[in-house]
Amino acid sequence: SSTTASTSSSEAGGTAASSSSPDTDAVRRKPTDFFFLRSIGEGSFSTVYLAKERTTDRKFAIKVCEKARIRKENKVHLIHREKEVMARLSKQDSHPCFVRLYCTFQDSERLFFAMTYAERGEMLDFLRKLGSFDDEVTQFYAAELVSALDYLHRLGVVHRDLKPENVLLGGNMHILISDFGSSKILGQQDGPSASHPMKLAESRPTKERSSFVGTAQYVSPEVLNGKPVGPSCDYWALGAIIYQMLAGLPPFRAANEYLVFQKIINSNYTFPQGFPAVAKDLVEKLIVQNSAQRLGSDEMGGVAVLKEHPFFAGVNWVTLHTQEPPALK
Ligand code: ATP
Repeated sequence: SSTTASTSSSEAGGTAASSSSPDTDAVRRKPTDFFFLRSIGEGSFSTVYLAKERTTDRKFAIKVCEKARIRKENKVHLIHREKEVMARLSKQDSHPCFVRLYCTFQDSERLFFAMTYAERGEMLDFLRKLGSFDDEVTQFYAAELVSALDYLHRLGVVHRDLKPENVLLGGNMHILISDFGSSKILGQQDGPSASHPMKLAESRPTKERSSFVGTAQYVSPEVLNGKPVGPSCDYWALGAIIYQMLAGLPPFRAANEYLVFQKIINSNYTFPQGFPAVAKDLVEKLIVQNSAQRLGSDEMGGVAVLKEHPFFAGVNWVTLHTQEPPALK
């Protein structure tokens, strides 16, 4: 039926209502409408399963969250936001580079989010297997990321946690950006506690910290410092991802998270020998402390100026998503 996110406040059970999400599905799905085939991943408060819809045989990734745990860990606002952002990205004519939310449903204990199944898994796994990407592959995936971020930002959403674990790949090897649990809807208040789970103030060893299982290696200084965050924090992450695609490792590495944070706020990183000069120039214009001086920011002329950087020479921005991605080798 519909490819639009289906939600309703009655489904929310007090945990995931979203008034802005259209409820266009005539029939509300239920867990028994799907065969749950296997677990494909664990999040900090969810498990994702590969599932098949009984009537259509279509495959989905279904994220299952325990309501009690969400409440106990104070994550209700994060689930709300994730769902609202995914609903915005799940309209029929939405950008193809995002994981879509097809429908949501619940039973007494759990919330279910049925999403696009990203068949080829995380970009990070490919990077680990291959060591690094060549210039052509890096340019292609960086261009898809720029195109997707431009779309996201135009919708008034900042991802805030872009990293190679959250860049999934579909069966056709095009990117599918996922994980909107840390995203920010511009103009909305952030929620009861953290503006972002990795804020520096919350990174010091406290009992609460244990709920954070991600990596902070791609997070911009303003996010870490709890300063106002705009779209260009995603361009910092883009710089770190481009660096990693070519160098094989992220730019900011250290024995523990606190030392990573120190490196980030001091821009303390170096390029390995042989790193392409044009990519180095781009990364140096993205990994910039002052978000207003970062390439891609409104102050620097916006995404149009970023797209004109020589690193992207030869990219056809119009046909990008219908092109055959260059082979990973
Ligand atoms: P956290 O919730 O702590 O931010 P997370 O984003 O990794 O962590 P989930 O969104 O629950 O948590 O995802 C868990 C794992 O499941 C991911 O790391 C990813 O490998 C896999 N996964 C998530 N969504 C999909 C999808 N749509 N298609 C294929 N695999 C997915």
